[in-house]
Amino acid sequence: MDSVAPPPPVPLGSRLAVPVDVERVEARITFDVAAQVAAVEATVEFVVQGYDGCPALDLRQPVDSFLLDGQKFPGEAFSPEDLGGGPGSEMRVIDDPLAAWSRHRLELRYQLATPAAEGSAPLGWVAGAGVRWDFWMSDLHPGRYLEMWLPANLCEDRFQLKLEVAVEGGGPHVLISNGTEYQAGPNEWWVDYPAAFTSLSPMLVLRPEEEIEQRRIPGLVTAKVAESDADLEANEADIKAWLACNESRYGRWVHGDHFTCVLWGPGRGMEYDGATTAAVGAVEHEVFHSWFGRGVKPARASDGWIDEAWTSWATNSRRRELGRFAVEELSLEEPPVVLYPPNPWSRHTPIESYREGSRLFAGVAHLLGGAPQMRTAMAAWYQEHAGGFVTTEGLELHLRERNAGVSALFRRYVHGQGE
Ligand SMILES: [Zn+2]
Repeated sequence: MDSVAPPPPVPLGSRLAVPVDVERVEARITFDVAAQVAAVEATVEFVVQGYDGCPALDLRQPVDSFLLDGQKFPGEAFSPEDLGGGPGSEMRVIDDPLAAWSRHRLELRYQLATPAAEGSAPLGWVAGAGVRWDFWMSDLHPGRYLEMWLPANLCEDRFQLKLEVAVEGGGPHVLISNGTEYQAGPNEWWVDYPAAFTSLSPMLVLRPEEEIEQRRIPGLVTAKVAESDADLEANEADIKAWLACNESRYGRWVHGDHFTCVLWGPGRGMEYDGATTAAVGAVEHEVFHSWFGRGVKPARASDGWIDEAWTSWATNSRRRELGRFAVEELSLEEPPVVLYPPNPWSRHTPIESYREGSRLFAGVAHLLGGAPQMRTAMAAWYQEHAGGFVTTEGLELHLRERNAGVSALFRRYVHGQGE
């Protein structure tokens, strides 16, 4: 699937909140080390999708005022509204009805604060020296993709992103990303991210130079921040082995010419397109996500359970419960589980996806006749969609071709339906 239908419009009193297609985001962020202030100028070009109404997109930063097509609006005219996705999944709705299929330009200026999303981290100012900043995304809580820092759409929307970053008044910094970086001057960069990226794709790490070490070999950039005591060279060898194994087992790599891994202290693990920021123990899991999760991407946030469940089943994942490649009959007697939140504005991956989701794959593997059959089925599914989007429904159809019993398991342990 190469494009994903937007979620439906939602009535809000007399207004109608409508989805948009974000085409391009351009932003400049200037970190003033002496003042410990990060000023953002961002522009968004978008097209209203399908209905006349008030456009919905997101940004988890305070906005005092903004310009829409050059006209000034107060910040309240860009307020969070629950469109049915539940607590934390609010979208910001621009309080100005626009015509279906019309194209617009939103200009925002603000100072970066700790994003208004569960588990987000503040900017790490280092007095006199600079700033520690990284996107630090998460699937587990709504609003934890690019919208934490910059205006963005739901994760099914592809858009161009150009980001300029400048650090003023600090020592030398290093910027690492999974885009194409250009050094515009000392402590000044711009990064072009591929147009196929969505809000869950881009990775960026900015650190004072003395707090990060990196190695570059063909096909692989590895780095570690000061909190990590990892052996960079040993990790490089492990990552090369996992990349080669995943490619031969599941199919082609779709993220350009290299993988980027920034090693972190304990507790960290997040996947990006062809990249990760992770503690050593999570790296195998995160490398795997460059096939499942970011090589094929969830068509909606609600499809995100697939990649956590499957990655937990298939790697030596710290979140797995059964052994990897488990094969175990799953009866229809256990309590139902919701891994796919049904509302199209829902924006999180249920935490049960790791444990209950990998048990589900163990059960499917049992139906399919074993772990090799399970891997072969998923490799075929990956190859069919590599570089594109995947859905829960599509996965169920793919697997039920091999054993019709899959559908009963999906009904109960993905959609949470009892008898
Ligand atoms: Zn994961």
